Amino acid sequence: MILSIFLYVFLQSRILGTTENTSEERCLNLSGKESLIYIDGEYYPRSEAKISVFDHGFLYGDGVFEGIRSYNGIVFKLKEHIDRLYYSARAIMLNIPMTKEEMTEAVLETLRRNNLKDAYVRLIVTRGKGDLGIDPRKCPKPSVIIIAVPLLQLYDEKKRESGMSMIVSWVRRDPVDATTHEIKSLNYLNSILAKIEANNVGADEAIILDSNGFISEATAENIFIVKGDMIITPPSTSGPLPGITACVIKEIAQKLGYQVIEKGITVAELYGADEAFVTGTAAEVMPIREVNKRQIGEGKMGPVTRKILEKFREFIKDPKNGVPIW
Ligand code: PMP
Repeated sequence: MILSIFLYVFLQSRILGTTENTSEERCLNLSGKESLIYIDGEYYPRSEAKISVFDHGFLYGDGVFEGIRSYNGIVFKLKEHIDRLYYSARAIMLNIPMTKEEMTEAVLETLRRNNLKDAYVRLIVTRGKGDLGIDPRKCPKPSVIIIAVPLLQLYDEKKRESGMSMIVSWVRRDPVDATTHEIKSLNYLNSILAKIEANNVGADEAIILDSNGFISEATAENIFIVKGDMIITPPSTSGPLPGITACVIKEIAQKLGYQVIEKGITVAELYGADEAFVTGTAAEVMPIREVNKRQIGEGKMGPVTRKILEKFREFIKDPKNGVPIW
């Protein structure tokens, strides 16, 4: 029985591995070679990069991660991403077996080995191999995995101009006294359920409320609304991830002379906003066109969002806002 489960898992991974490898361009790095994945100090070709089925990251979502981006050879806000990874790990009592400096170097080296200048990096630390019980004491050694792919483009520029359609999901953001999204853990079922709901009705994305009915964030982005000269975003009491892009956007908005406010936002306030947008490492700055079929503002990218997006694009190009790969 156990043997047949092993055989099934093994065959599945081989089948998935082969189809992905032939169909997906991203399997290849810029040198046209199969991309190299870092696992616990070694680099493996993508088709050979595997972790144990007994890893608690796989069995229980027990682990933490970061999504990082590099622009033109500079890893944007790398220090902040590494800091957040260790912050999340501390919260779940996961001892990362590397210093922050070693982790930074491993990320840079993965990019170098794949010859990538513009890339999306997924950095994962799992609880490691254990038995089938949940007890993390059975997992003596956490695993560190770094995947780097040529840039992940979530939305094209046409879509960015027209903005996203969103729904408000019935799924509530995990409260701050549960598996809160303030910790960037491997447990994303909550976001996935909201995304499925958006997919089911043909919307681009979902907004998730906190347990009191205030807006928390989107499935993998923070949210902002514009009202006059105020730019408003939910507070930590609504349980959003402390987004690194959101932090940059607040700084940019303030410099542009807007008043940046953190306060509970109701769905009615969102409907009545002049403009609204989401932010994230992958999405960057994405306008919201409509929510639950209510048009937001002009129903396309508004002037404030445009100004912020322009400044954001300048900001990411500035080498002092990241760490050079070479
Ligand atoms: N919220 C959630 C739940 C996310 O997964 C992300 C993506 N990391 C964000 C917000 C945006 O955060 P960041 O700007 O750091 O990518």
